[in-house]
Amino acid sequence: MKKMFWIIPLMILLLVGCGSDYRKYYEQVHDKLLMEQIAPLHDELLTALNDAMDVTPPDDAAQKPKYDQIATRTDEIIGEVSKLKPPEEFKNPHTKLVAYLEDFKNADLNAQKAAAGDRNTGKLARDAFKSQMVVCGKCGTENYLDRYNYTECSNCKTEIAGGYEKLGLTDKLKIIEDEFYGKKMILDNK
Ligand SMILES: [Zn+2]
Repeated sequence: MKKMFWIIPLMILLLVGCGSDYRKYYEQVHDKLLMEQIAPLHDELLTALNDAMDVTPPDDAAQKPKYDQIATRTDEIIGEVSKLKPPEEFKNPHTKLVAYLEDFKNADLNAQKAAAGDRNTGKLARDAFKSQMVVCGKCGTENYLDRYNYTECSNCKTEIAGGYEKLGLTDKLKIIEDEFYGKKMILDNK
């Protein structure tokens, strides 16, 4: 019976230990990287692309320093994220974040090509931010996918295969933010 008194504080210590582990990861990835760096970088690239479009004819060359700077910072962030090992509960949003960063990097590479005069590739950079329209194979309804609707047809509720992949970078980033936040809420309330 006396041994039990040791076990309880030990269990509490272990629980506290696990708790601070996920919090540490969350602070690093959600707070410091996602909210403070990735989200602003997302807005910077989108703004630079829109600024290029705001003039006639579109002038991507004027945005070249921005695109180059974004490329450097994206590589730094990818380096930091790939060093981190997510706790079990965050594996899903972590994988999504890594994929998002690769897509984002690709959009920026396309923007750099546009700045070098490749106009068609510049269009790809802008399109990466927008979600695609999906025609339902069953009922023919046009589904304009967004972060609230990408898993099933809005009319007949048939599953949209790979709906997440058809979302633009802006919707994907919001979903990733929501998933990180949602998982943390669950863990905090355990
Ligand atoms: Zn349908």
